[in-house]
Amino acid sequence: MQRAIIGFHQDEVGDWVAELACGHGQHVRHKPPFFSRPWATTVEGRDGMLGSKLPCVLCDRFELPTGFAPYKRTADFDQASIPAGLLRDHSTKAGVWGVIHVLAGRLHYIVEPPLAGEHVLEPATPGIVVPEVLHRVAPLGDVQFFVEFHRRAST
Ligand SMILES: [Zn+2]
Repeated sequence: MQRAIIGFHQDEVGDWVAELACGHGQHVRHKPPFFSRPWATTVEGRDGMLGSKLPCVLCDRFELPTGFAPYKRTADFDQASIPAGLLRDHSTKAGVWGVIHVLAGRLHYIVEPPLAGEHVLEPATPGIVVPEVLHRVAPLGDVQFFVEFHRRAST
């Protein structure tokens, strides 16, 4: 899915990495003739790309970004106490990831486009909630679960 560039940094060998709003990084190398991104080599060029979007395959794969850590969680819910808001399409805000931890039973996790899919969550199979992507859950019989929220850990 497409993610906006919010900043840049250099990796350990000096190659430029675009920082995306989701928390992932993506190399923006200028290595002609293989990669032609002359804009990546100047401050002005990079500044001009802020807000532009790049496809993020790590979001497509539901991968939590590195450097993120949990900062809050919901109460434990069961099939009777699930808040109505979780049963309807909703999303986390930019830069906030979620992990749906099932403690017992099974939970149906439905994700809308651009990452459309249906997943069955169990204690050994947590669900990853990608920022700004609509999703909802539905109990599959008796279930207990909670949602943990992750954001970039302060450095
Ligand atoms: Zn991403």
